[in-house]
Amino acid sequence: MDPSKPAALSRRRRGLLIVLSSPSGAGKTTISRMLLEIDRGITMSVSATTRPKRPGEVDDVHYHFVDDAGFKALIDDGELAEWAYVFDHRYGTPKAPIKAALKAGSDILFDIDWQGTQQLEAGMGEDLVSIFILPPSMAELDRRLHARATDNEDVIADRMRRAASEIGHWAEYDYVLINEDMERCLEEVKAIVAAERLKRTRQPGLVAFVRELVERP
Ligand code: 5GP
Repeated sequence: MDPSKPAALSRRRRGLLIVLSSPSGAGKTTISRMLLEIDRGITMSVSATTRPKRPGEVDDVHYHFVDDAGFKALIDDGELAEWAYVFDHRYGTPKAPIKAALKAGSDILFDIDWQGTQQLEAGMGEDLVSIFILPPSMAELDRRLHARATDNEDVIADRMRRAASEIGHWAEYDYVLINEDMERCLEEVKAIVAAERLKRTRQPGLVAFVRELVERP
């Protein structure tokens, strides 16, 4: 530590809970991945889900894949901060990593839907910042879902139907971005995170820092 600086400056800030929601195909997963790569102060929340694993997905990395009984046990044991039915399967956020991240003063990123966002907001609103990502148009969303080539026509049609209902929740979010250009959208997310980290209320050491600052000869 630099001895010329007041000691309070070294105090850790409160960790931030960053929620990214969007209809599938709007770019949320890519933006999350890029953000995690460039900002080592953020860890990803790994959700539990009852949906089957897709090719290339790794258990405990992309999701904790559990069966219905396993998911019910997580609920009954109070281990989930939120959970919801999405696309006919259950998805939920484990509590323990959130507590650990907040305690360590690090930030945690959630890729969850509007139902989960509402629940987290009710429980930990002051530490949470929510971002909704919109596609530039429904035609572009449809094009991106086809370009992924991971789903068949029926699944894509279903995702398009559900996109409209997910988009209906845009106004419940703190920030709303239109993902016309991935790089620009990432820059906007980075700007939001940078500003939210600097919020006075997230810097508990400031009172002591300023006191020391003005009291020093
Ligand atoms: P996918 O099956 O394509 O990975 O995810 C489907 C949807 O479930 C996405 O919109 C994603 O944001 C949402 N989701 C993933 N994990 C959770 C979770 O833990 N809780 C909630 N509420 N939604 C989740």
